[in-house]
Amino acid sequence: MTDTLSALLSRDPDRMWRASWEVIGTRDIEMLETLRSALPDIRRATADIELGGMIRPNRDALAHALDKVQTYRTWRCWCDDYPRLLAYNPAREEERGHATILSRVDSGWPTTYECACTACGTQFSVEEGEHHALWWKWTPRASRSTR
Ligand SMILES: [Zn+2]
Repeated sequence: MTDTLSALLSRDPDRMWRASWEVIGTRDIEMLETLRSALPDIRRATADIELGGMIRPNRDALAHALDKVQTYRTWRCWCDDYPRLLAYNPAREEERGHATILSRVDSGWPTTYECACTACGTQFSVEEGEHHALWWKWTPRASRSTR
């Protein structure tokens, strides 16, 4: 059993929360398929746990993670998920090798980025904002690069 799966089944809110973010950030198909086959067990194990969360309910992260496990096969690319969540930090995505920061403009407010997905080349404008915590709004750029 993978660490992520055992964390999701652990009934330990802290481990479950960290595993949720691991799933949200991953492009590891092997991990996602393992979780996919265990999805009914995960749903059962997580249904009645109080996950808490100070700013955003931690259950939202879990729900997003499980939705990814269930639907990622239908995604065009991993970057389909960027506009759906305000939690993709461009610097972190670049560190993971998932996106490239083409430019960063922080003269004035808000800070904006131009980023490209390393898998499909789709470019995004990313607006950084702050409301209790930093967030990033990813918008695909209208002019698609030719592939
Ligand atoms: Zn992509």
